[in-house]
Amino acid sequence: MGLSRGDYPVLTLGQAPATAAVRMAAVVIIVALSLVTLITAAHAETPVAALPGFLPAFASLTALAQLLTAYLLWGQARAGEQPALVVPAVTYLGGALLIAAHAWLFPGAFFVTLQHRGEAAAWLWVFWHLLFAGGVFVYGLYPAAWSGPGDFRRTARRGVWIMVSLVAAAVALARSGLLPALVGAGRFHVPEWLLVLMPAAMMLAMAALAYGRRARTVLDTWLFVAIAGMWCDIALMHRGAGRFSIGWYAADVIGLIAALAVLLGCLAEINKLYGRLVWRAARMDDANARLQAVNSELSTMAEHDALTQLLNRRAVLMHLTESFEAWRRGGAAFGVLMIDLDHFKTINDDYGHLAGDEVLAQVAARLRTAVRASDIVGRYGGEEFLVVLPGTDAHGIRITATKLLRAVRDTPFRCQDRPITVTVSIGATCVGGKDQGPEHVIARADRALYAAKRGGRDRQAWADWSRA
Ligand code: GH3
Ligand code: MG
Ligand code: MG
Repeated sequence: MGLSRGDYPVLTLGQAPATAAVRMAAVVIIVALSLVTLITAAHAETPVAALPGFLPAFASLTALAQLLTAYLLWGQARAGEQPALVVPAVTYLGGALLIAAHAWLFPGAFFVTLQHRGEAAAWLWVFWHLLFAGGVFVYGLYPAAWSGPGDFRRTARRGVWIMVSLVAAAVALARSGLLPALVGAGRFHVPEWLLVLMPAAMMLAMAALAYGRRARTVLDTWLFVAIAGMWCDIALMHRGAGRFSIGWYAADVIGLIAALAVLLGCLAEINKLYGRLVWRAARMDDANARLQAVNSELSTMAEHDALTQLLNRRAVLMHLTESFEAWRRGGAAFGVLMIDLDHFKTINDDYGHLAGDEVLAQVAARLRTAVRASDIVGRYGGEEFLVVLPGTDAHGIRITATKLLRAVRDTPFRCQDRPITVTVSIGATCVGGKDQGPEHVIARADRALYAAKRGGRDRQAWADWSRA
């Protein structure tokens, strides 16, 4: 089953499985490098024009590529708290230092004169290959599962110290003159034992990668390419006739490609990862927007009555309580209207419940449009409505109640295509005096409503707090 973008987790290169495309790319590169090696090997000794700038340029690029790879792998090791990744990271660091020292001591490249035999440079080149194979070997044997935040810092620091010491020792040894000569008459004469040792080290590294880590990850795959490249590099360097031969140039170019393999593999993987992150972020934004829409729909549903679209009982009482608290803290007084439909039972009985529902909804709409936007209208019970009028005095409350009475009565409603006149009774009051809570105001409005019903309906009655 292929991985889709959504369920591909964010992993380090030491964990991310190599996809079929990555494996294919690696195989193609290894085959190409081998073919170039085979073809070039036949003409390896042929001398070519001397390009004095070639070695410094090649060595600088190789050292830079290795330094960048070390930096990337270091970041991966730290991000994933994976001590195992410290091994390839410091291996690349050591490679960068050795190749830099190699170029520094190479005759004619920087300051060392062409007359110099370049023993130290040649040995550093050998050490670079051995160190790389050794690093990959250790990484291959490193338990893939072993990782832990406690171990990471110690492993990392130790790794850097070991590598810097190894490089320092290698440079000192190469310059000591204790080692057998590799350069004779401008040629690179690698002794038999060394010729066997270097490819053998590469082979061991590959075997460790293949069997120790079961070579499943992106990093393993590109380390394979790097080792294969180094193998070709060794073969050509041996076949070439020293500096400025076809073999020598090709070996250096292949060495550079090998040094670039893990870096480019890293970058490709990081690009893919970035693509996935952007894709995920976009999906997250979508999901968030949907969630917000559903949330606001839910909160509307929680506060509103489905039949009339007015505030429901809970919501209108909450607004009433807020107005009451504001008034108690010295804010403006407010009015309350309790409205009940007159003889609504008969509408239900004559036209049916559905028609009754329709009338209720239309009455609600008329009440809502008859008052100001700042007034609060809610369905208090079955056919009872509660209106809160903020900042309104007794006179204003009465005028509003009259407006509402007219809004319902003056225009007949249509019920099953017949016009019917509906009226309401209104109990009106205003907060004040010794009111202790919103329930006192409601009770007074209720009493007034009862008085309006007794008075003959289709009217308002006022209950004053001073006479409560
Ligand atoms: P009055 O208030 O003038 O005394 O008379 P009434 O007929 O309105 O009396 P009452 O308040 O006792 O009856 C209210 C009726 O409203 C009873 C109930 O069937 C009806 N009712 C309450 N809620 C709904 C509703 O959501 N839809 C419909 N269709 N009827 C409802
Ligand atoms: Mg009624
Ligand atoms: Mg009623």
